[in-house]
Order: sequence, then structure tokens, then C-alpha cells
Amino acid sequence: MNPTDATLIELRDAIAEKKVSAVEITRTYLDRIEKHNGALNVYHEVYADRALDRAGQVDLGEVTGALAGVPIAIKDLLCTDYGHTTCSSKMLANFQAPYTATAVRKLEDAGAVILGKTNMDEFAMGSSTENSACGTTLNPWDTSRVPGGSSGGSAAAMAAGLCAASIGTDTGGSIRQPAALCGVVGMKPTYGRISRYGLVAFASSLDQVGPFTRTVADTALLLKIMMGQDALDSTSASVPVPEDVDRVDETPKGFRIGIAKQYMSDANDPAVAAATQQAIQVYKDHGATIVEVDLPHTEYGIPVYYIVATAEASSNLARYDGVHYGHRTDKPGDLIDLYCRSRAEGFGDEVKRRIMLGTYALSSGYYDAYYNRALKVRRLISNDFDTAFESCDAILCPTTTGPAFKIGEMSDDPLSMYLNDVYTVNCNLAGNVGITLPAGTTKVDGRDLPIGVQLLGPAFDEARLLRIARVFEAATDHHRARPPV
Ligand code: GLN
Repeated sequence: MNPTDATLIELRDAIAEKKVSAVEITRTYLDRIEKHNGALNVYHEVYADRALDRAGQVDLGEVTGALAGVPIAIKDLLCTDYGHTTCSSKMLANFQAPYTATAVRKLEDAGAVILGKTNMDEFAMGSSTENSACGTTLNPWDTSRVPGGSSGGSAAAMAAGLCAASIGTDTGGSIRQPAALCGVVGMKPTYGRISRYGLVAFASSLDQVGPFTRTVADTALLLKIMMGQDALDSTSASVPVPEDVDRVDETPKGFRIGIAKQYMSDANDPAVAAATQQAIQVYKDHGATIVEVDLPHTEYGIPVYYIVATAEASSNLARYDGVHYGHRTDKPGDLIDLYCRSRAEGFGDEVKRRIMLGTYALSSGYYDAYYNRALKVRRLISNDFDTAFESCDAILCPTTTGPAFKIGEMSDDPLSMYLNDVYTVNCNLAGNVGITLPAGTTKVDGRDLPIGVQLLGPAFDEARLLRIARVFEAATDHHRARPPV
């Protein structure tokens, strides 16, 4: 078995059956990180000693659980009480969190070995991982291209075999878009399904933790472990986690796949359109009824998202004042000067842009015109989904309009960068479930680049969506494609 090619479940089972030691597995990944991280810039920090210690405890039987010995990478905005939590920002360059995020703690309680923290767009604001104070992460399929973002480091680590699974966050698409551009499975669970305790807040009504894996079954296992109500996060949902959420091979009987014309735009890359059509055919061939659904307010998703998310960000990021924690300027003249210069020096351009946009949208003269109106349209978008899910079990659509773009191609044009999220943000606005699956590759400039298809499902229906996703995965070989690393 090649550990860098194996699924998380295969690795877990091989360790449990003592076919391979956890230390050996961890070493293999650490060696690969050593070899490739310099070129790809995926990890900020690698906890080699800690990881080997944990793996040793697994081999001695001192650490057990459903993930015993499995090496996992964490996006660098989930707090850990070891190492640094930087959010790829100069503001938090030296920040050491005093506690560990619930999602990470649950993984560790299940025996996972945390390898390190991965690169991201600063405070999760971006779609390319170019907005990072730690440099851009490169796409392992073609290093002249971005891995997507904001969880680009976690997606690239997964694609390049530098971990057995990784964790990211998705506020407007930051798991699904990079997963699609790196050719791996990525899922955003229902809002409130996984605790946000210890997740550095960007937009609190949208942020959600989720996994990157090679397979649907691996995603289901990680969800089963991470989901559930948490007394430390009052927005975490009290809906019980279904015991059978990981039984992904139980194909739902007579399921219906919805197709919305609003997602089948002529602007889609022909390879994306073809992959989506192929997925429709796979579902037809496997017993699904295909139904047309209408999501009439889809086009308002991007403007609504960029008002709601920036408004919440402007409020959440007010805490970085140079006093409580984070970067503090040298020799401030007075208190106001300390606030202003600490923030001016600590934040990057995109974060400043979002704070200004959000502050504007919330200011007294414009609150009703922008923020309040955006909330009303958010409700309409959510209602569209509720109506659509009366006639289908999942909506099938592209994850992105095209494959990975070139580094620098959009970095001077924030609006085109924002348009990257056109097929992902509405799911966050509605609080629903979304998953992207590898759906083949397309040749661009002589390189194979991955493409994803997305399935959107109703809130709290993870179990069914995973089973529907598994039907496509089982019928295709796309999840076996690997980048040339
Ligand atoms: N690309 C989107 C943004 O920049 C989504 C980010 C995210 O999901 N964290 O806001």
C-alpha cells in the first residue's frame, strides 16, 4: 500500500490491523512534506515531533479511536493550544491560541495525528490563496496556477499527498472551490453542524468547518466525528447526528436530482459543462429521476454575500486593535495612533478592502439600503432552495465556472475574483449542505487540470447527500486521478 495514495479509511485500518505502524505512516508524510513543501508552500508550520509522539502512542495502544494514527492537516485559522494560529496574517504572526478548536479536539480525541497548519487567504478572504502574508500556495497539478482559496493550502496538501485528509472552512466556497481546482472531495456541512468554537471568525453567520478527502466515505467518517452540538458554540445545532451518516454505500431508493438553469450558464468552460452533463448521465443510469428546478434569485447571491460577509467581517475584525492581541505598532504617539497604525500595518489589502466595504454597508445612512436589503434577499435565496428541495433530493451543478487560473491572473481585479464564488455562495447564504466531487480533468497548456461537480442538499441532510455523492464516485474513476507530484 502506498500511504500517500491510500484513503484515510484504508490507512486507519492498516494501522489498526498492525500491517503498518502509525510512526511509519507519519514519517512517510513528514518526508513528503520535507520534499515538496518548499516548492508548493502548503504548510506554515509542521509539528513533526508532536506528530511522531502521538503516532508512537497509537502504536503502543495508548491512543485509540476511529482515526487512530491518521495524519491530518489543519487550516491555519483553527486554534490549537500548540504552535501558532496565524490566519496567514501579519496581524497574528506570533499568536499562540490558549485553547484548541472543538473540531480539532474531536479529531485528536479520535486518535488523529495533526501534521501542521496550512496556508490560506488572510482571514479566509479570497479565492486563490494569493492574499496570504505567507506567500501563495501553488496548485500541485500545475505550479503556475492557484489552488483556489481560501483553504488552498488544505486542498493542495490533500491533492499532493502531504496528508491523509485536511480540514478547511467554507464561508462562501472556501472548501468546495479549492477542492474542485485541486481534484479532491470537499464538503461544507449545514451551518451549525460543526462547532465554530476556536475557528477565527470571518463572517459568523456563514462560516462552517469541513473536510478535504480523496473519497466520499472518508468525508463521511470525518463528519461523523466532527459534527454535533457544542456547549461552547451557541449557534451549533441541536439536531442529532445520524448514526448511519457514514454508511455511504446505501444508495437511496428512487432519488431525484434537480438541475437549475441558473447554474448551467453559457459562461461555463466547455469542459465544466461536459463534466456536468456526464454527471447527469451517470445519475440517470443509476436510477435517479432528473427534474428541473428554478432558483430565480441565484444572480443576487454574489452581491448579497459580499455585503453580508463584509459587514460581519468588519465587526469581527474590530478586535484586532493592537491592544488585546496581535500586531502592535512601534512607538505609537497616542491610543488612536496605536489603533490606526497597528491595523494599517497588520492587515493586508484585501482584508482592509472588506473592512471598509462592510463598515460602509453598516453605517447609519446606508444600513437599510445595503445590509437590511441584503438580508431580505438572503431570505429569498434560501426560500428558493426550500421550494426546489420539495421536488428533488439534491441539486447537481458545477462547482466553478472553469479550472484553476494562473497565479496573478485576477489579483488586480477583485471583482473577477469575487465572481469565482458564483456557484458556491448561495449554499452558505441558505445554510445548506454542499459537496464537490472530482469530475475529470481538462488539458490546458499541455497540463491536466481537475474539474469538480457539486451537489447541494437541504440543511441537515448530510447523510442522504453523501449517499447520492457516492453513487457518482462509485460509477467513475475521477477520484483516482493524481497530480504529477
Ligand atoms: N472567496 C470567498 C471570499 O473571498 C469565500 C471565502 C470563504 O469561503 N472563506 O469571501
